[in-house]
Amino acid sequence: MTEQEIVKELGAAMDRMRGHPLADTARIIVETALRSDLGCRRKALEEAHFLLQVMPKTETDELHIDLSLILNLGILLNGLSRLDRPIIPVYHEAFGLEWGHTARKLHTDARTWQPVHLIFMNRTEQQPLDLLGYPWLVHELVHYAFANQLPLFYQGHQILNTRVQQWNLASLAVNDPVSQQITKDFRTYWIPKESQFDWPHEIAVDAVCMLLLGPVYVSALQREYADATDTINAYQIEPDHIPIELRTQAMIRIGEQLGWEAEVEPLRLLQQQWQRQWPEAARASRYRTLRDHALIAEAQRAALEYATSVRLPQLTPARLTELSAAAEDVAPLQGLDLIISAWCMYQRHQGGEGYATWTARLLQSFADE
Ligand SMILES: [Zn+2]
Repeated sequence: MTEQEIVKELGAAMDRMRGHPLADTARIIVETALRSDLGCRRKALEEAHFLLQVMPKTETDELHIDLSLILNLGILLNGLSRLDRPIIPVYHEAFGLEWGHTARKLHTDARTWQPVHLIFMNRTEQQPLDLLGYPWLVHELVHYAFANQLPLFYQGHQILNTRVQQWNLASLAVNDPVSQQITKDFRTYWIPKESQFDWPHEIAVDAVCMLLLGPVYVSALQREYADATDTINAYQIEPDHIPIELRTQAMIRIGEQLGWEAEVEPLRLLQQQWQRQWPEAARASRYRTLRDHALIAEAQRAALEYATSVRLPQLTPARLTELSAAAEDVAPLQGLDLIISAWCMYQRHQGGEGYATWTARLLQSFADE
C-alpha cells in the first residue's frame, strides 16, 4: 500500500466509527500519525492502521461495561484525574483470547512517540462476558499503570548485585557452568524491564491486585491454575512468564501480610498438589536459588509503596461485608466495586440462576446509560 492509500483507509475507518464510543481515540491516533515527521510518517501511518484494525467493531452492552471499567480503573490505578494515554480493549482471536497488556509506540519523530496501550481481552466481541475473570482486567491495567513506574520504587538491585557477586565468585572458583548460568538467570529474570516481562513486575502487579481485591483475586488465580496444571509444569522457568509456583508463593506471602491469612488457603493447597505432582522440579537447585525470598519481598514492598503514593483503596474484610450487603443493587456499581460485587453475587448464588439474573440486570443498567 502507498502512503496515500493508507491515509484513505484510515479516513474510511474513521467514518465507519462515527458515533462509536472509541471514535475519539481513533481520531487522536490518526491525527497523531498524520502530524508525524516525514522520516517516520510511513511507520506512524502503518501503526495507526494496525491500531484501528484491532479496535472493537460492534457497540455492545458488554463493550460499554468494559470501557467504563477501563476508564474507571485506569484513572484510579494511575492516581490521575483522567487517562493520560489511550487504552484500547482488543477482542481478537489473532491474539489468543487470553488476558494481556502491551504498549505500542506511535512515533511522532525518530525519538518521540505517543504510547497507545492495548488490553487483550479473553473473549471475542460476540462472546458473553464473564465477570469472575475480571480481576485479570485489573491485573493488566496495573501493568498499564506501571509503565515506566515500578523501577522508580524498586530497590532490588542491591540484593541482586550481592547474589550475582556470590555466584560469580562460585563460578570463578570452580569454573562451574551451573553457577555461570544462575548468574545469568538472576539478571534475566530479576531486573525490571520496559516490556515488564520480568519477575519483579509480575510479583508487584499481583501485590497491588491483592491489595485491591483480596480474596476476589485469590479466586481468579485459583480458577486459572486449578485446571491448567495438568499441562503446565508449575516450576517451569520461561523467559516471558514467571513460574506459577513462584507466583503463587509470592501471593500467599502478600495475602498473609494484608490480613487474608485464611483466604489464601486454596493457594497453599495448590502448592502442595504441585509438590506431589513434580517432586523433582520442586527440589531442583536452580529453581530454589532463583526463587529468592528477599527479591520477592522487595518487589512487593515497592508495589505497596506505589499503591500508597497514588492512594489506592485497600479491600478490607469490613469493606467486603459492606459491598456484599449492597451488591443486589446494580445501579451504582462501577470499577472495583462492580468486580467485587460480581464475585459476592456468584458466591451467594453459587453461580446459579440468581447470578445470571444479576449479570443481566447489570448489563441492562449499562445499556440504559
Ligand atoms: Zn502480568
